[in-house]
Amino acid sequence: MNKRKLLTSLVAGLLLAGIFFLLGRPEKYDVLVVGAGAAGLFAALEAEAEGASVLVIEKMPTIGGNTIRATGGMNAAESEVQEKLGISDSLESHLEDTLQAGHRTNNPVLAEILVEQAKEAVSRLRALGADLEDVGYLAGHSAPRTHRPTGGAPVGTEIVRVLEEALKERGIPIRLETRITGLIRKGDGVKGALVRDKTGREYRILSSALVLATGGYGGSPRTFVRYNPALAGFNTTNHPGATGDYIPLAEDIGARMVDMDQIQAHPTVEPDHGILITEALRGNGGILVDLMGRRFTDELAFRDILSARILERRNGTAYLVFDDRVRRSLSAAENYIQRNLVKSADTPEELAGKLGIDPPLFSGELENYNRIHHSGLDDPYGRSGLSIPLDTPPYYGIKVSPGVHYCMGGLAIDDHTRVLRDSDGKAIPGLYAAGEATGGIHGNNRLGGNSLADAVIFGRIAGREAARK
Ligand SMILES: Cc1cc2nc3c(=O)[nH]c(=O)nc-3n(C[C@H](O)[C@H](O)[C@H](O)COP(=O)(O)OP(=O)(O)OC[C@H]3O[C@@H](n4cnc5c(N)ncnc54)[C@H](O)[C@@H]3O)c2cc1C
Repeated sequence: MNKRKLLTSLVAGLLLAGIFFLLGRPEKYDVLVVGAGAAGLFAALEAEAEGASVLVIEKMPTIGGNTIRATGGMNAAESEVQEKLGISDSLESHLEDTLQAGHRTNNPVLAEILVEQAKEAVSRLRALGADLEDVGYLAGHSAPRTHRPTGGAPVGTEIVRVLEEALKERGIPIRLETRITGLIRKGDGVKGALVRDKTGREYRILSSALVLATGGYGGSPRTFVRYNPALAGFNTTNHPGATGDYIPLAEDIGARMVDMDQIQAHPTVEPDHGILITEALRGNGGILVDLMGRRFTDELAFRDILSARILERRNGTAYLVFDDRVRRSLSAAENYIQRNLVKSADTPEELAGKLGIDPPLFSGELENYNRIHHSGLDDPYGRSGLSIPLDTPPYYGIKVSPGVHYCMGGLAIDDHTRVLRDSDGKAIPGLYAAGEATGGIHGNNRLGGNSLADAVIFGRIAGREAARK
C-alpha cells in the first residue's frame, strides 16, 4: 500500500470511529448482570469463572439490595457446618419442610434444586471467607439448619462483604446508579439492554446473555397492592429499590410471571420503623403475647399462619418477649436494643408496665410458661421448636405486627434459569433470571432462610448458563 492510500484509509478509519462515538457506540459484554444483590453478584462471579466478560449494573448508590438486610440466616441441610456441630438433618426433611410451608404449590423441580444445592452454596460462601459457623433454628423447620455468622450475627452483611471482595479481586466491574430501562431484542430473544445513568443519559449495552437479578417488589406499596389489594396500608421491611423493575420488561417481551399475588407478610416487624425482628429471636426462645399479656400461639408456626394469628389480635399487634439468656444467644438482638426498639426491665411486672400490658396477667402467664417448660410438659400451643424457660433478668419486649416482606411471585424460569415466554412456555433466547425476581420456588409461602439459598444457588446457575450461551 502506498503512503497516499495508507493516509486515506487512516482518515476513513478515524472518521468511522468518530461517527460511532457520536452515535454512542454500544459497549459489549458476554454477560450483563442487572442487580447487585446475592443473585446478581454470584451470577457475575460464576460467569467470569467460565471465561465470560461481565458487567454488573446496579441502580442504587450502594450494592446489596434486600440481601444486605438479611438477618436470620441461610438454610442448608447435610452441610459441613451441621456435621461439625453434630446436627442431624436430611435433604428429604428440608424438602418436605419447604413444600409444606408452600402448601405444595411450589415448582417441585426448582424446590428440589434448592434443597440439593444448598450445602454446596454454604461451602462456596465459606470458601470465599464467609463466617457461617453458627447454625440456628427458624420457624417451620424440622431441624436447626439456618447458617449465620458466629454468635448469631446478621448474615446479609457477611454475604455481601465476601461477594464484593471476590468481584473486586476478579476485576469484575459494578456500575452503580445505573438502571435497566429496556431490553434490546434480537429476533425473539434478547441481546442487551437500554440503561440510564444518574445524569439521565441513556445508552445501550450489548451482551450475548442478560441476567435479571433485580429482586422483588416488596419495597413498592403501589406494586404490591396492585397484585394483592389486601396488603393496602401494610408496612414493608424491604429496601426502597425493591420496586419490581423486571415487571414492565417482562410485559414488554412477553415473559411469563407466576404467583404475583403471593406476597409474604413477615409476622414480626416493628411497626413504627418497619424493621424486621428476626425469626431467630423466636427460634432461640422468644415468645409472643397479645396486648393483654397472654400467649396465643405456637411462636414457630409457618409465617402465613402466624401473621394471620397476630392480625386477629387487638390492633393486629403483639409483643415479642425474651430474657437475657436469649439476648446473649443472638448478637442480632443488640441491633434492636441500640435502635431503641426494645423495652427492658428487671422483673416481668415492670416490663409489663413499660409495654402497657396487664402486669399480673403477664407475669402469671410467664410463670406458667416457665413452669411447663421446667417440668418438661407439653406446650399448650404445641410450640414446635426450642422452648426454654424465660427466667433470666433483665426481660425484654418489642412491639410487632406483620409487614410485607417477600415476593414469592416473579419471572417463570426453568431449571437452567432461562426466562420462559408466556405464550408457549419456551425459553426466551439470551434472557436469564435469578433470586427474588423469579417465582414458583417457594409456592405460596416461603420458609424462612430459604431465599438467600435461592438467590445464591440460582444466581450461580444463571451466571454459568449465561456464560455458556
Ligand atoms: C429485612 C429482611 C431480612 C431478610 N432476612 C432473610 C434471612 O435471614 N434469610 C433469608 O433467606 N432471606 C432473608 N430475606 C430475604 C432475602 O434477603 C432476599 O429475598 C434475597 O436477598 C434477594 O436477593 P436478590 O439478589 O434476588 O435481590 P436483592 O438482594 O434485593 O438485589 C436486587 C438488586 O437489584 C437492584 N435493582 C432493582 N431494579 C434495578 C434496575 N432497574 N436496574 C439495576 N438494578 C436494579 C436493586 O437495587 C438491588 O440491589 C430478608 C429480606 C429482608 C428485606
